[in-house]
Amino acid sequence: METKTPETFDDLQLSAITLRAIRKLGYEKPSPIQAKVIPWALEGYDVIGQARTGTGKTASFAIPILEQLDPLRSSPLPQALVLVPTRELAAQVHGEFVKLAQGCPTEVLEVAGGKHMTKQLQALGRGVQVVVGTPGRVIDHIQRGSLKLSNIWCIVLDEADRMLDIGFRPDIERILRKCPENRQTLLLSATLDAEVKKLAERYLFEPVIVDCSEKGVSVDTIEQRYLNVSPERKFDILVQLLTREKPPQTIIFCRTKLGTAKLHNQLQRAVASIPELADMRLDTIHGNMNQSQRDSVFKSLRNGAIQILVATDVVGRGIDVSTVSHIINYDLPDDCDDYVHRVGRTGRMGREGIAFSFVAKGQGELLTEIEQRINRQLIADPLAQDISSPKKQAMVKAAAAAAEMSPDDVVASDEPKKRRLNPMRRVVSGRSKRR
Ligand code: AMP
Repeated sequence: METKTPETFDDLQLSAITLRAIRKLGYEKPSPIQAKVIPWALEGYDVIGQARTGTGKTASFAIPILEQLDPLRSSPLPQALVLVPTRELAAQVHGEFVKLAQGCPTEVLEVAGGKHMTKQLQALGRGVQVVVGTPGRVIDHIQRGSLKLSNIWCIVLDEADRMLDIGFRPDIERILRKCPENRQTLLLSATLDAEVKKLAERYLFEPVIVDCSEKGVSVDTIEQRYLNVSPERKFDILVQLLTREKPPQTIIFCRTKLGTAKLHNQLQRAVASIPELADMRLDTIHGNMNQSQRDSVFKSLRNGAIQILVATDVVGRGIDVSTVSHIINYDLPDDCDDYVHRVGRTGRMGREGIAFSFVAKGQGELLTEIEQRINRQLIADPLAQDISSPKKQAMVKAAAAAAEMSPDDVVASDEPKKRRLNPMRRVVSGRSKRR
């Protein structure tokens, strides 16, 4: 089938009720992944869509599913099943479905671990049309007999690469084998590695492959900077950065739960005592919190009740809050993919964003690897050279005035020209040991 890429949602010939919901959400035109996936999905093809989160991929499968649900609901059994890797993503995908389904009587149920089992059992007993869940909890319901897949005509494997990374392959395969053979399968994945391809070869039928991946992954709208920071100066530099940037909303990433708790406490004290930070409300999120605690933090982030979220990588993937303007890697992640996912929490749907990474002594090689991964050099932030002392700040101002440029463009250093590039990076550049 030849498809012309639709430029507007009207070109997709959707029902009036879906178009109304889309308009209410303020979506003006289909994002690239939506423009490419929706026409094929509406034709009933299996589709492999290569796209990362933040590109509008949820609506690319939610819209065709909602369009094709049996309006008579002749059976109480679910008609579509969406599998996602994490509880956070389940909540997010469920939310997007509900918004797109506004105005129709469609019941969309989220079945993720950490949520009340009784409520899920009751809803499944009453009958729902779409189920969004994590593989583990879906299997749980299948075993209890509360979820029957015999009426599923569409199954979505969202963030398939991530689900396979987590080790969900056996669960996914078990679920796929329980769905009718003549179903439609939509697979979304940021990467199409050998594992994903193996899964697709086995369970998809002549799929259409749609590539909306961004080479270099981190979107262009995100400015990315680094700061060389010694452990003793780290917190001080963070405070200076927050004071300078006054971020509308920022997520600060730490490596460990302990580090997250410590930084959260330090920041609470700073916010109470530093006038420039006085308006900032903050919270923290990490793996030790239960689902309802996490949900309430995400809610506060979404409705703007908090400006600073101190987090471990638990929110590095999946969370989609379009108002997050700044990402601060207080601890640089060991894994380049984690860097990409953290930074991707800002600059959502083409909005602008900025990310700062604190680089400790000895992490130059890691920074080089990150740069190779994103195919771009990070910019040295002027605060990078610990310009904390009034003397150094005056030096920066004087240097800027002399050069008729903004102090932000001046590197605060006694050897300004030489230090533009992290010296450690020059040594190892181009011969990364990892990967
Ligand atoms: P996703 O990649 O599905 O996580 O979507 C990222 C964000 O983009 C979500 O906040 C969506 O509500 C939003 N979004 C999805 N499609 C569109 C669109 N066509 N125009 C504007 N925003 C969109």
